[in-house]
Amino acid sequence: MRTLLRVLSTARELWPWYAGIIATSVFVAATALATPFIIARATDEVVAQASGGGGGLMVLVALAGALLVAELLNTVLTNVGGYLGDTMTMRLRAILSSRYYAKLLSLPQRYFENQLTGTVINKLHRSITEVTQFLQMFSNSFFPTLITVFAVLGISLYYSWPLALLLLIIYPLFTWLTALTSKRWQVLEGEKNDELDAAGGRFAEVIGQIKVTKSFVRERTELDTFDGHYRRAVATTNTQSSWWHRMDVARRGSLNIIFFGIYLIIFAQTASGIFTLGDMVLLIQLVAMARTPVMMMSFLVDSSQHAIAGSKSYFEVMDETPEPFAAVGEIRSPDLSPTATTGGAAPAASAWPVVPDAPTIAFDGVSFGYDSHAEVLHDITFDVARGERLALVSESGGGKTTLVNLLLGLYSPSAGTISIAGTDTASVSLAQVRSQIGVVFQDASLFSGTVRENLSYGRPGATDAELEQAARRANAHDFIAKLSDGYDTVIGERGVRLSGGQKQRIAVARAMVKDAPLLVLDEATSALDSRSERLVQAGLEELMADRTSIIIAHRLSTISTVDRIITLRDGRIDEVGSPAELAETDGIYAELLALQESGTKRDKRRL
Ligand code: ADP
Ligand code: MG
Repeated sequence: MRTLLRVLSTARELWPWYAGIIATSVFVAATALATPFIIARATDEVVAQASGGGGGLMVLVALAGALLVAELLNTVLTNVGGYLGDTMTMRLRAILSSRYYAKLLSLPQRYFENQLTGTVINKLHRSITEVTQFLQMFSNSFFPTLITVFAVLGISLYYSWPLALLLLIIYPLFTWLTALTSKRWQVLEGEKNDELDAAGGRFAEVIGQIKVTKSFVRERTELDTFDGHYRRAVATTNTQSSWWHRMDVARRGSLNIIFFGIYLIIFAQTASGIFTLGDMVLLIQLVAMARTPVMMMSFLVDSSQHAIAGSKSYFEVMDETPEPFAAVGEIRSPDLSPTATTGGAAPAASAWPVVPDAPTIAFDGVSFGYDSHAEVLHDITFDVARGERLALVSESGGGKTTLVNLLLGLYSPSAGTISIAGTDTASVSLAQVRSQIGVVFQDASLFSGTVRENLSYGRPGATDAELEQAARRANAHDFIAKLSDGYDTVIGERGVRLSGGQKQRIAVARAMVKDAPLLVLDEATSALDSRSERLVQAGLEELMADRTSIIIAHRLSTISTVDRIITLRDGRIDEVGSPAELAETDGIYAELLALQESGTKRDKRRL
């Protein structure tokens, strides 16, 4: 229950809706209650007229007219309430979803490594749907009835306290019986959801890499695994539902016994002349009105169980610790007014405390491991001078990408500091750090959408001329021009409609457009053949000219022009020197160089 209130207070700005719903509910209840009173009055009037008294036909017409007015008002108000409930729910949905997304965007890289994308999406969808469905039902039907119940209790107390007492114990009794069953229900619900989340997570992953699944002919096994999750979810639901409904028979059965007592009191009191026939008609109607919500309650409790489970998994994500100084900024509500502009301007490049054109980078005693027991980098200390080009060399898995991840603030070092332009990066916002760095990753990581949108991802304001210039320098313009719609060609999810080399050239151009003073190339040209690599290399050389760069290259020939090379071995810095110097030693660089040269010679011989 507390988590549901937390959901409402999360969207505090919806208070006019909440207030409107409460107000209409009060009026809906009042108009609903008018009906039994009018009918009771009519009953007494009819009895009086039948025995020769009463006020004549006009009184009966007036009473029927009053019924009509009360019922029409009730119909209109119920619909006003329904409208408010529906719009409130959709707004709440928008606010909750936006906050969830904002939260996810601000979580550290590490969070996503422990989650399947599909699971995260599944959870969002389910938890928000369940919470909003419940609130919609609550505000549209349950809340007005709840008010009626209180009124009915008050009125019956006026007529007969034993009657009121019996009515009164129904609700706590029913709630208690429901609570008895809900614990087990919640546990089973959790188990079921885990299965569904696992199925959804794997599903999204497989569809995302369908090529691999097809070429390894794993469709059948993937499907079987998927079905397995659903089979277990079905079995859990069987247990859950049969338990719930058996308990419901017990719950309602005990209610039926109480209603037996209630009717007995009404009949006996009327027979002995304490109640008039009109009173009896009124009380029977009121009891019927009190009965509906009890029956509705088991439905509502069922739905509230879902909603509580849903809001719990919602807040599980909302309570995760974000990255320090997350770039989404303070998590606030989305602008839902019809005139709101979408997209918005890109945030202005954050002012760096000291921004020389090409700042320096310094690692000082940096150690790091992805998990506590295995250190990947140990006591790494080096400086990159302004405008310098530094290459990192190690065997595969030696920690080069990890070092770049640390520079980007995707992870925090377990010891040591990283500074840019003399400022400790831990003391400024990650968005500021990242806005200083242009980066090309090993996997090009493009987005669905057009070539143009991808190129301008780091600088939405870039002009077409700037985009084209970057594409030319990355040797991408020619192939882009040949695509069906040129720069407006849609490249598919993660760029699936492009070759590996084309994707990489777009990624290089994207980094060029961002035009940041620091440049990081993590095997940026590894997917290119030697000829394209040389062409892109020319563009990269130009890009590196007025920047401080860290380069990781698969082919050592491409880093022969750097100023300095650092080699890593067992997580430590092994050697530092110019390419020429290191080629003379017997370190990793020389070793890898010899391997690659002999490979090249062998290839040439084969040709
Ligand atoms: P390189 O880029 O030099 O090939 P990496 O920096 O990618 O090497 O990896 C260094 C080590 O860290 C490897 O042993 C790898 O298994 C491990 N590693 C890389 N990324 C992660 C991660 N996200 N979680 C846990 N371990 C990782
Ligand atoms: Mg790597």
